[in-house]
Amino acid sequence: MSDMNGRVALITGASSGIGRATAAAFAEKGASVVVAARRQDELDSLVAEIEAGGGQATAIRTDVAVAEDVKRMVARAIEAFGRLDYAVNNAGIEGRWAGITELDEDEWDRVLDINLKGTFLCMKYEATAMLAGGHGKAIVNIGSVNSFLGFPTGSAYVTSKHGLIGLTASVSAELASQGIRVNLVCPGFIDTPMHHRARATIGDEIYDKGVLPQVHLRRTGRPEEIAQVVVFLCSDEASYVTGTTLTPDGGFTLTI
Ligand code: NAP
Repeated sequence: MSDMNGRVALITGASSGIGRATAAAFAEKGASVVVAARRQDELDSLVAEIEAGGGQATAIRTDVAVAEDVKRMVARAIEAFGRLDYAVNNAGIEGRWAGITELDEDEWDRVLDINLKGTFLCMKYEATAMLAGGHGKAIVNIGSVNSFLGFPTGSAYVTSKHGLIGLTASVSAELASQGIRVNLVCPGFIDTPMHHRARATIGDEIYDKGVLPQVHLRRTGRPEEIAQVVVFLCSDEASYVTGTTLTPDGGFTLTI
C-alpha cells in the first residue's frame, strides 16, 4: 500500500481494541492521527506510543453520542493538523444482552445512540470538514457480522449494526461524486475487551466447541487484522471501492 505521509486520519473508539490497533496502523503508514474516545488516560498512552515510534498524534476526549463533542473532535483534527483525509467510525458498545421482553427502553436508546446515532453524528461533521477543506478521501464505519445476522438477546446491538449498512450506502451515494468513499467493515470475532466480555457471557466451552468450529479459519481474529482492512479501504489502492461492506470474519458469515 502507498504511504500516507502528510495525510490525517481520525479514529473513534481508539482507547481500546480495534480502534487502538487501527490508529497504530495509520501511524505506521505515515499518517498523523487524531484519536478519540471517552477514556482520556488510554488515549494519552496511545499518543505517547505513537510519538515514541516517530509518528504524530493528538487525543481528544469524545462521547460520540453527543453532537457538541463530535463537533469539537473534528475541529481538533483541523486545528492540530490542518486537514482531514480519513475517518474511521469505530466507537461502539455491545450493551446488556437481554431478550425483547426484558430489554429496557433506556438500554435500547444507549446502544442505538452510541452505535448508530454516534456514527451519523461523526459522518455529518467529518464530511462537513472534508468537503470544506477539499482533502477528504475516505470514511470507514465499523459494523459487525451482526450487520447481517441476528441472535437471541442481541436486538439492540444487532439493530444498530444493521442500520449502519443503510447509513453507509446512503452517505456513499451522497459523497462519491465529491471524492469521498464510504464503506462498512464488518468484523467477526476479534480478540478485544468487548470480545472477552461477550465470551464471558456464553462461556469458553460454548465458544471453543460451538462457535469457533463455524469459523473457517478456526480462530479468533486479531485487532491488527481488522486495522489492515480499514487502512486498505482508506488507501488509494481501494479507489473503486465505495458503498459496500467488507467482512473480515475468518469465514464465519457464510458458514451458517
Ligand atoms: P472495545 O475494546 O470495547 O472498544 C470499544 C471502543 O469504543 C473503546 O475505545 C471505547 O472507548 C469506545 N467507545 C464506546 N462508547 C463510546 C462513546 N460513547 N464515545 C466514544 N467512544 C466510545 O471493543 P472492540 O471490539 O474494539 O470494538 C470496536 C468496534 O468493533 C465496535 O463498534 C464493535 O461493535 C465492533 N466489533 C467488534 C467485534 C469484536 O469481536 N471485538 C466484532 C464485530 C464488531 P471509551 O470506553 O474510552 O469511550
